[in-house]
Amino acid sequence: MNQKVQKLISTLGQSRVTLAEPLLKYSSFHLGGPAEFFYRAKTIDELMTAINTANIFKIPYFILGGGTNLLISDFGFAGLVIKNDTSEINLLGIKGKTYGKGNAEISQQTVYLQVESGVSVNRLVRFTLDQGFAGLQFFLGQPGTVGGATYINAHNMKKGQFFGDTIVEAKILKATSRIEKVSSKYFCFGYDKSILQNTHETLLSVVIQLERKVNIDLWKEAQEALEYRQETQPTGFFSSGCTFRNISKSQAMNLATPNYTTSAGYLIERVGLKGTKIGGAMFSKNHANFIVHKGEAKSSDVLELIKLAKEKVKNKFNINLEEEIILVGEFKYG
Ligand SMILES: Cc1cc2nc3c(=O)[nH]c(=O)nc-3n(C[C@H](O)[C@H](O)[C@H](O)COP(=O)(O)OP(=O)(O)OC[C@H]3O[C@@H](n4cnc5c(N)ncnc54)[C@H](O)[C@@H]3O)c2cc1C
Repeated sequence: MNQKVQKLISTLGQSRVTLAEPLLKYSSFHLGGPAEFFYRAKTIDELMTAINTANIFKIPYFILGGGTNLLISDFGFAGLVIKNDTSEINLLGIKGKTYGKGNAEISQQTVYLQVESGVSVNRLVRFTLDQGFAGLQFFLGQPGTVGGATYINAHNMKKGQFFGDTIVEAKILKATSRIEKVSSKYFCFGYDKSILQNTHETLLSVVIQLERKVNIDLWKEAQEALEYRQETQPTGFFSSGCTFRNISKSQAMNLATPNYTTSAGYLIERVGLKGTKIGGAMFSKNHANFIVHKGEAKSSDVLELIKLAKEKVKNKFNINLEEEIILVGEFKYG
């Protein structure tokens, strides 16, 4: 073991760094080889120490949230995987007033929560529903963490809602190891886009803004969104959600897709790939943009399906499909 690695381990704690940890355990795709070094950061301080230490010793690192948007290489990750287990949700304050009483009560109150980036989105949504805070109800059942949801600007397309819409400010760890407070504008949120994808900075926490609601059944709205999710997404398989980003409205107009759908799944279906299998991986029969498996696939099978879809869609529609899922580790196969 070289000196740098010894220093990394002694800084983070011998008993806290695992060697050759299988990453498939942390991936909803249930795929991927081992992490050379693996560390769980339970607090923001631990998260920052792990990143700063890896930077000092020039050890490549990867921030793992819920692992629900990843394709991890069969060869794993050469470097330090930092599992973000930070978990605090704090009420910062409530502004505004309520009017009337009982069934006639009307609330015009705005609520601010500070949420650490390792918090699971689903836990956060449940917390807000229990408190009667509106704004995240359509994200019930959304897999992953606040960090991952901010990175990709997670969305509920049916409701036209984006996770980033709720963020008012955040703390990020800059490449210089400095903590910076930024406003939501900083993230340049778009469909499947945030600045974090370019800067590789780490999100530490966010402040989100919600509305306090009275006399509205938020749980009912949330349950309906959850049911829609369960009806339209494949269940009983391992997956990482949608494989490709949807196409733009202008591309859909050019192609004259039915109702100008921007769905990447529609294009995959049109090139005949729905249900197509390579090795143990398959384009789902009920949602063509999901690649699924029951436990028998390798990451290389998924990669082959991705390549095939990109090639076929390019040939037929002259469109370059872009991956929504993130490839982690080395993908040079034979
Ligand atoms: C069954 C299923 C259904 C899904 N449905 C939806 C859906 O409806 N809508 C949707 O938008 N997505 C959906 N997804 C995709 C996925 O859940 C989201 O993209 C989610 O936001 C990923 O979060 P994560 O914590 O799992 O991120 P991970 O997969 O762990 O990581 C994704 C990326 O975010 C980065 N990242 C994570 N935390 C941080 C941080 N703190 N700072 C900086 N970067 C960070 C990682 O380094 C990585 O690059 C679905 C996935 C599955 C498996």
